[in-house]
Amino acid sequence: MSVWDDLQGQAPVVTALRRAAAEGAPTHAWLFTGPPGSGRSNAARAFAAALQCERPDPADRGCGQCHACHTVLAGTHADVTRMATDKVTIAIAEVRALISRAQDKPSSGRWRIIIIEDADRMVERTTNVLLKAIEEPPPRTLWMLCAPSPADVIVTIRSRCRPVGLRIPPVDDVAALLTRRDGVEPATALTVARMAQSHIGVARRLARDPEARARRDEIVTLPLRLSDVSGAVRAAGTLVDLAQADAEAATVARNATEKAELLTALGLTEQDKVPPAVRSQLKHLADEQKRRATRSQRDALDRAMTDLSTFYRDVLVLQLGARSDLVNGHLDITLREFAAASSPETTLRRIDAIAEARERLAANVAPLLALEAMTVSLLS
Ligand SMILES: [Zn+2]
Repeated sequence: MSVWDDLQGQAPVVTALRRAAAEGAPTHAWLFTGPPGSGRSNAARAFAAALQCERPDPADRGCGQCHACHTVLAGTHADVTRMATDKVTIAIAEVRALISRAQDKPSSGRWRIIIIEDADRMVERTTNVLLKAIEEPPPRTLWMLCAPSPADVIVTIRSRCRPVGLRIPPVDDVAALLTRRDGVEPATALTVARMAQSHIGVARRLARDPEARARRDEIVTLPLRLSDVSGAVRAAGTLVDLAQADAEAATVARNATEKAELLTALGLTEQDKVPPAVRSQLKHLADEQKRRATRSQRDALDRAMTDLSTFYRDVLVLQLGARSDLVNGHLDITLREFAAASSPETTLRRIDAIAEARERLAANVAPLLALEAMTVSLLS
Protein backbone atom coordinates (compact mmCIF):
# COMPACT_ATOMS: atom_id res chain seq x y z
CA MET A 1 0.00 0.00 0.00
CA SER A 2 1.50 3.33 -1.02
CA VAL A 3 0.17 6.74 0.01
CA TRP A 4 -1.28 7.18 -3.50
CA ASP A 5 -3.57 4.16 -3.41
CA ASP A 6 -6.55 6.04 -2.04
CA LEU A 7 -6.54 8.65 -4.78
CA GLN A 8 -8.84 6.59 -6.93
CA GLY A 9 -9.74 7.98 -10.34
CA GLN A 10 -7.11 10.75 -10.08
CA ALA A 11 -4.34 9.25 -12.20
CA PRO A 12 -3.06 12.53 -13.77
CA VAL A 13 -2.85 14.19 -10.34
CA VAL A 14 -0.99 11.21 -8.87
CA THR A 15 1.51 11.23 -11.75
CA ALA A 16 2.19 14.95 -11.32
CA LEU A 17 2.58 14.76 -7.54
CA ARG A 18 4.80 11.67 -7.67
CA ARG A 19 7.07 13.41 -10.11
CA ALA A 20 7.20 16.56 -7.98
CA ALA A 21 8.01 14.51 -4.86
CA ALA A 22 10.75 12.59 -6.69
CA GLU A 23 12.32 15.77 -8.08
CA GLY A 24 12.76 16.91 -4.53
CA ALA A 25 12.66 20.65 -5.15
CA PRO A 26 9.02 21.39 -5.61
CA THR A 27 7.18 24.66 -5.93
CA HIS A 28 6.66 26.34 -2.55
CA ALA A 29 2.92 26.86 -2.78
CA TRP A 30 0.28 24.47 -4.04
CA LEU A 31 -3.45 24.82 -4.51
CA PHE A 32 -5.50 21.61 -4.37
CA THR A 33 -9.00 22.00 -5.73
CA GLY A 34 -11.86 19.59 -6.25
CA PRO A 35 -15.51 19.07 -5.29
CA PRO A 36 -16.36 17.71 -1.81
CA GLY A 37 -15.48 14.04 -1.56
CA SER A 38 -13.03 14.09 -4.47
CA GLY A 39 -10.23 13.83 -1.93
CA ARG A 40 -8.44 17.17 -2.23
CA SER A 41 -7.23 17.14 1.37
CA ASN A 42 -6.24 13.46 1.04
CA ALA A 43 -4.20 14.39 -2.02
CA ALA A 44 -2.42 17.15 -0.09
CA ARG A 45 -1.72 14.75 2.76
CA ALA A 46 -0.42 12.00 0.44
CA PHE A 47 1.85 14.54 -1.24
CA ALA A 48 3.13 15.72 2.14
CA ALA A 49 3.85 12.09 3.09
CA ALA A 50 5.72 11.47 -0.17
CA LEU A 51 7.83 14.61 0.38
CA GLN A 52 8.82 13.42 3.86
CA CYS A 53 9.14 9.71 2.95
CA GLU A 54 12.36 8.08 4.16
CA ARG A 55 12.94 5.84 1.15
CA PRO A 56 16.31 6.66 -0.42
CA ASP A 57 15.17 6.09 -4.01
CA PRO A 58 13.15 9.16 -5.08
CA ALA A 59 10.94 6.98 -7.28
CA ASP A 60 9.71 5.11 -4.18
CA ARG A 61 8.69 8.21 -2.23
CA GLY A 62 5.28 7.81 -0.68
CA CYS A 63 5.91 4.14 0.18
CA GLY A 64 3.22 4.19 2.87
CA GLN A 65 5.40 1.90 5.02
CA CYS A 66 8.06 4.07 6.64
CA HIS A 67 7.70 6.03 9.87
CA ALA A 68 7.47 9.37 8.03
CA CYS A 69 4.67 8.18 5.72
CA HIS A 70 2.76 6.72 8.68
CA THR A 71 3.01 9.77 10.88
CA VAL A 72 2.09 12.23 8.12
CA LEU A 73 -1.02 10.20 7.26
CA ALA A 74 -1.94 9.90 10.93
CA GLY A 75 -1.48 13.65 11.45
CA THR A 76 1.31 13.32 14.01
CA HIS A 77 4.40 14.25 11.96
CA ALA A 78 6.21 17.09 13.72
CA ASP A 79 6.94 18.99 10.48
CA VAL A 80 3.50 18.75 8.89
CA THR A 81 0.84 21.11 10.24
CA ARG A 82 -2.69 20.66 9.00
CA MET A 83 -5.41 23.19 9.65
CA ALA A 84 -9.08 22.41 9.14
CA THR A 85 -11.72 24.68 10.54
CA ASP A 86 -15.20 24.18 11.90
CA LYS A 87 -16.01 27.84 11.53
CA VAL A 88 -17.42 29.86 8.68
CA THR A 89 -14.20 31.85 8.43
CA ILE A 90 -10.63 31.23 9.51
CA ALA A 91 -9.48 33.91 11.98
CA ILE A 92 -6.51 36.12 11.13
CA ALA A 93 -4.82 35.03 14.39
CA GLU A 94 -4.97 31.40 13.28
CA VAL A 95 -3.25 32.24 10.01
CA ARG A 96 -0.62 34.31 11.84
CA ALA A 97 0.12 31.27 14.02
CA LEU A 98 0.59 29.16 10.90
CA ILE A 99 2.88 31.75 9.36
CA SER A 100 5.02 31.80 12.46
CA ARG A 101 5.16 27.99 12.36
CA ALA A 102 6.19 28.21 8.69
CA GLN A 103 9.34 30.11 9.67
CA ASP A 104 10.71 27.12 11.62
CA LYS A 105 13.22 24.80 10.03
CA PRO A 106 12.01 21.23 9.69
CA SER A 107 12.93 19.25 12.80
CA SER A 108 13.28 15.73 11.41
CA GLY A 109 11.75 15.76 7.94
CA ARG A 110 12.95 17.22 4.69
CA TRP A 111 10.37 20.00 4.64
CA ARG A 112 8.24 22.13 6.89
CA ILE A 113 4.75 21.69 5.41
CA ILE A 114 1.63 23.69 6.21
CA ILE A 115 -1.71 22.43 4.89
CA ILE A 116 -4.76 24.70 5.02
CA GLU A 117 -7.80 22.58 4.25
CA ASP A 118 -10.32 25.36 3.90
CA ALA A 119 -8.44 28.14 2.15
CA ASP A 120 -11.77 29.40 0.78
CA ARG A 121 -12.88 30.33 4.30
CA MET A 122 -10.75 33.44 4.69
CA VAL A 123 -11.68 37.07 4.46
CA GLU A 124 -9.55 39.27 2.22
CA ARG A 125 -7.54 40.84 5.03
CA THR A 126 -6.48 37.38 6.24
CA THR A 127 -5.65 36.33 2.71
CA ASN A 128 -3.35 39.33 2.33
CA VAL A 129 -1.40 38.32 5.42
CA LEU A 130 -1.08 34.81 4.02
CA LEU A 131 -0.07 36.13 0.62
CA LYS A 132 3.10 37.72 1.98
CA ALA A 133 4.08 34.44 3.63
CA ILE A 134 3.49 32.45 0.47
CA GLU A 135 5.47 34.88 -1.66
CA GLU A 136 8.71 34.48 0.26
CA PRO A 137 8.71 31.30 2.29
CA PRO A 138 11.88 30.01 3.96
CA PRO A 139 13.71 27.59 1.62
CA ARG A 140 12.49 24.40 3.33
CA THR A 141 8.86 25.47 3.75
CA LEU A 142 5.94 24.37 1.60
CA TRP A 143 2.34 25.63 1.68
CA MET A 144 -0.57 23.49 0.52
CA LEU A 145 -3.96 25.14 0.26
CA CYS A 146 -7.21 23.28 -0.43
CA ALA A 147 -10.45 24.75 -1.77
CA PRO A 148 -13.49 23.58 -3.75
CA SER A 149 -12.43 25.44 -6.89
CA PRO A 150 -9.70 27.90 -7.97
CA ALA A 151 -12.34 30.64 -8.09
CA ASP A 152 -12.82 30.27 -4.32
CA VAL A 153 -9.35 31.67 -3.70
CA ILE A 154 -8.45 35.25 -4.57
CA VAL A 155 -6.42 35.66 -7.71
CA THR A 156 -3.28 37.01 -6.04
CA ILE A 157 -2.98 33.80 -4.04
CA ARG A 158 -4.04 31.58 -6.91
CA SER A 159 -1.42 33.02 -9.25
CA ARG A 160 1.38 32.14 -6.82
CA CYS A 161 0.32 28.53 -6.34
CA ARG A 162 0.88 25.54 -8.55
CA PRO A 163 -2.62 24.20 -9.26
CA VAL A 164 -3.67 20.59 -8.63
CA GLY A 165 -7.22 19.98 -9.86
CA LEU A 166 -9.00 16.85 -8.74
CA ARG A 167 -12.01 15.71 -10.68
CA ILE A 168 -15.14 13.95 -9.50
CA PRO A 169 -14.03 10.33 -9.74
CA PRO A 170 -16.11 8.08 -12.00
CA VAL A 171 -18.68 5.92 -10.16
CA ASP A 172 -16.89 2.74 -11.27
CA ASP A 173 -13.59 3.90 -9.77
CA VAL A 174 -15.23 4.72 -6.45
CA ALA A 175 -16.91 1.29 -6.42
CA ALA A 176 -13.58 -0.41 -7.20
CA LEU A 177 -11.90 1.45 -4.34
CA LEU A 178 -14.60 0.37 -1.88
CA THR A 179 -14.24 -3.24 -2.97
CA ARG A 180 -10.46 -3.26 -2.87
CA ARG A 181 -9.86 -1.28 0.29
CA ASP A 182 -12.96 -1.90 2.38
CA GLY A 183 -13.99 -5.33 1.11
CA VAL A 184 -17.44 -4.15 0.00
CA GLU A 185 -19.22 -6.61 -2.26
CA PRO A 186 -19.04 -5.25 -5.89
CA ALA A 187 -22.79 -4.85 -6.55
CA THR A 188 -23.30 -3.00 -3.25
CA ALA A 189 -20.23 -0.89 -3.94
CA LEU A 190 -21.67 0.24 -7.26
CA THR A 191 -25.07 1.05 -5.73
CA VAL A 192 -23.65 3.16 -2.93
CA ALA A 193 -21.12 4.88 -5.21
CA ARG A 194 -24.06 6.00 -7.37
CA MET A 195 -26.14 7.05 -4.37
CA ALA A 196 -23.23 9.10 -3.05
CA GLN A 197 -22.64 10.60 -6.50
CA SER A 198 -19.00 9.55 -6.24
CA HIS A 199 -18.38 11.21 -2.87
CA ILE A 200 -15.93 8.62 -1.54
CA GLY A 201 -16.43 9.18 2.19
CA VAL A 202 -20.21 9.18 1.91
CA ALA A 203 -20.18 6.05 -0.27
CA ARG A 204 -18.04 4.20 2.25
CA ARG A 205 -20.37 5.09 5.09
CA LEU A 206 -23.45 3.99 3.14
CA ALA A 207 -21.74 0.68 2.40
CA ARG A 208 -20.73 0.03 5.98
CA ASP A 209 -23.65 1.37 7.92
CA PRO A 210 -27.15 0.03 7.11
CA GLU A 211 -28.67 2.72 9.33
CA ALA A 212 -27.02 5.46 7.29
CA ARG A 213 -28.61 3.93 4.19
CA ALA A 214 -31.99 3.75 5.88
CA ARG A 215 -31.73 7.43 6.81
CA ARG A 216 -30.76 8.35 3.30
CA ASP A 217 -33.72 6.41 1.90
CA GLU A 218 -36.04 8.22 4.25
CA ILE A 219 -34.67 11.57 3.06
CA VAL A 220 -34.81 10.68 -0.62
CA THR A 221 -38.39 9.37 -0.48
CA LEU A 222 -39.63 12.40 1.43
CA PRO A 223 -41.40 13.80 -1.68
CA LEU A 224 -43.72 10.76 -1.63
CA ARG A 225 -45.03 11.77 1.77
CA LEU A 226 -45.77 15.41 1.00
CA SER A 227 -49.50 15.90 0.63
CA ASP A 228 -50.59 18.97 2.57
CA VAL A 229 -49.10 21.93 4.42
CA SER A 230 -49.11 20.33 7.87
CA GLY A 231 -47.45 17.24 6.40
CA ALA A 232 -44.83 19.45 4.73
CA VAL A 233 -44.06 21.20 8.00
CA ARG A 234 -43.67 17.83 9.72
CA ALA A 235 -41.41 16.64 6.91
CA ALA A 236 -39.10 19.62 7.48
CA GLY A 237 -38.78 18.64 11.13
CA THR A 238 -38.03 15.05 10.13
CA LEU A 239 -35.30 16.25 7.76
CA VAL A 240 -33.58 18.25 10.47
CA ASP A 241 -33.74 15.24 12.82
CA LEU A 242 -32.38 12.84 10.20
CA ALA A 243 -29.48 15.15 9.38
CA GLN A 244 -28.74 15.51 13.09
CA ALA A 245 -28.72 11.72 13.57
CA ASP A 246 -26.51 11.32 10.54
CA ALA A 247 -24.03 13.92 11.76
CA GLU A 248 -23.81 12.19 15.14
CA ALA A 249 -23.32 8.73 13.63
CA ALA A 250 -20.67 10.00 11.21
CA THR A 251 -18.85 11.82 13.99
CA VAL A 252 -18.77 8.79 16.28
CA ALA A 253 -17.43 6.52 13.54
CA ARG A 254 -14.84 9.01 12.33
CA ASN A 255 -13.62 9.89 15.82
CA ALA A 256 -13.09 6.22 16.65
CA THR A 257 -11.13 5.64 13.42
CA GLU A 258 -8.95 8.68 14.02
CA LYS A 259 -8.19 7.66 17.56
CA ALA A 260 -7.30 4.12 16.47
CA GLU A 261 -5.02 5.52 13.73
CA LEU A 262 -3.31 7.85 16.16
CA LEU A 263 -2.74 5.04 18.67
CA THR A 264 -1.29 2.85 15.92
CA ALA A 265 1.01 5.67 14.84
CA LEU A 266 2.17 5.99 18.44
CA GLY A 267 2.72 2.22 18.63
CA LEU A 268 -0.10 1.64 21.15
CA THR A 269 -3.29 -0.43 21.21
CA GLU A 270 -6.69 0.49 22.72
CA GLN A 271 -5.85 -1.59 25.80
CA ASP A 272 -2.47 0.00 26.55
CA LYS A 273 -2.09 2.59 29.24
CA VAL A 274 -1.29 5.89 27.54
CA PRO A 275 2.18 7.10 28.57
CA PRO A 276 2.27 10.72 29.85
CA ALA A 277 4.51 11.79 26.96
CA VAL A 278 1.79 11.24 24.36
CA ARG A 279 -1.24 12.25 26.40
CA SER A 280 -1.15 15.76 24.96
CA GLN A 281 -1.46 14.36 21.44
CA LEU A 282 -4.61 12.46 22.38
CA LYS A 283 -5.97 15.52 24.15
CA HIS A 284 -5.30 17.61 21.06
CA LEU A 285 -7.22 15.12 18.92
CA ALA A 286 -10.15 15.11 21.35
CA ASP A 287 -10.30 18.92 21.28
CA GLU A 288 -10.24 19.03 17.51
CA GLN A 289 -13.01 16.44 17.32
CA LYS A 290 -15.17 18.50 19.64
CA ARG A 291 -14.70 21.61 17.55
CA ARG A 292 -15.61 19.72 14.44
CA ALA A 293 -18.99 18.55 15.72
CA THR A 294 -20.68 21.86 14.84
CA ARG A 295 -19.40 21.76 11.34
CA SER A 296 -20.48 18.18 10.70
CA GLN A 297 -24.07 19.10 11.55
CA ARG A 298 -24.03 21.79 8.92
CA ASP A 299 -22.43 19.41 6.43
CA ALA A 300 -25.02 16.71 7.17
CA LEU A 301 -27.86 19.12 6.51
CA ASP A 302 -26.29 20.15 3.23
CA ARG A 303 -25.81 16.50 2.35
CA ALA A 304 -29.48 15.82 3.11
CA MET A 305 -30.42 18.58 0.65
CA THR A 306 -28.16 17.00 -1.96
CA ASP A 307 -29.76 13.59 -1.38
CA LEU A 308 -33.24 15.03 -1.57
CA SER A 309 -32.53 16.74 -4.86
CA THR A 310 -31.28 13.46 -6.37
CA PHE A 311 -34.89 12.26 -6.19
CA TYR A 312 -36.07 15.12 -8.42
CA ARG A 313 -32.95 14.84 -10.55
CA ASP A 314 -33.88 11.21 -11.30
CA VAL A 315 -37.51 12.16 -11.92
CA LEU A 316 -36.32 14.77 -14.42
CA VAL A 317 -34.05 12.25 -16.17
CA LEU A 318 -37.09 9.99 -16.64
CA GLN A 319 -39.40 12.83 -17.72
CA LEU A 320 -36.93 14.00 -20.34
CA GLY A 321 -36.06 10.47 -21.43
CA ALA A 322 -32.36 11.25 -20.93
CA ARG A 323 -29.93 8.38 -21.26
CA SER A 324 -28.34 8.77 -17.89
CA ASP A 325 -28.03 6.36 -14.95
CA LEU A 326 -30.41 6.95 -12.05
CA VAL A 327 -28.71 7.94 -8.80
CA ASN A 328 -31.46 6.07 -6.98
CA GLY A 329 -31.77 3.04 -9.24
CA HIS A 330 -33.16 1.01 -6.34
CA LEU A 331 -36.31 3.19 -6.41
CA ASP A 332 -36.87 2.75 -10.15
CA ILE A 333 -40.62 1.96 -10.11
CA THR A 334 -41.46 4.62 -7.55
CA LEU A 335 -39.54 7.21 -9.55
CA ARG A 336 -41.33 6.28 -12.78
CA GLU A 337 -44.75 6.65 -11.16
CA PHE A 338 -43.79 10.01 -9.71
CA ALA A 339 -42.38 11.17 -13.06
CA ALA A 340 -45.60 10.23 -14.87
CA ALA A 341 -47.70 12.23 -12.42
CA SER A 342 -45.94 15.60 -12.90
CA SER A 343 -44.23 17.73 -15.57
CA PRO A 344 -40.54 18.57 -16.14
CA GLU A 345 -41.35 22.25 -15.42
CA THR A 346 -42.70 21.34 -11.99
CA THR A 347 -39.68 19.17 -11.28
CA LEU A 348 -37.28 21.97 -12.23
CA ARG A 349 -39.13 24.39 -9.97
CA ARG A 350 -38.82 21.90 -7.11
CA ILE A 351 -35.10 21.46 -7.70
CA ASP A 352 -34.80 25.25 -7.53
CA ALA A 353 -36.68 25.30 -4.23
CA ILE A 354 -34.10 22.91 -2.76
CA ALA A 355 -31.21 24.98 -4.13
CA GLU A 356 -32.73 28.09 -2.58
CA ALA A 357 -33.01 26.35 0.81
CA ARG A 358 -29.34 25.36 0.59
CA GLU A 359 -28.36 28.94 -0.06
CA ARG A 360 -30.38 30.11 2.91
CA LEU A 361 -28.77 27.47 5.11
CA ALA A 362 -25.34 28.58 3.94
CA ALA A 363 -26.33 32.12 4.93
CA ASN A 364 -27.07 30.85 8.46
CA VAL A 365 -30.87 31.00 8.33
CA ALA A 366 -32.35 28.80 11.09
CA PRO A 367 -32.51 25.29 9.56
CA LEU A 368 -36.12 24.52 10.42
CA LEU A 369 -37.26 27.83 8.97
CA ALA A 370 -35.42 27.32 5.68
CA LEU A 371 -36.60 23.73 5.36
CA GLU A 372 -40.24 24.50 6.10
CA ALA A 373 -40.29 27.09 3.36
CA MET A 374 -38.75 24.49 1.08
CA THR A 375 -41.08 21.57 1.83
CA VAL A 376 -44.11 23.83 1.48
CA SER A 377 -42.96 24.97 -1.96
CA LEU A 378 -42.34 21.35 -2.94
CA LEU A 379 -46.11 20.82 -2.55
CA SER A 380 -47.03 22.90 -5.57
ZN1 LIG B 1 7.60 6.28 3.09
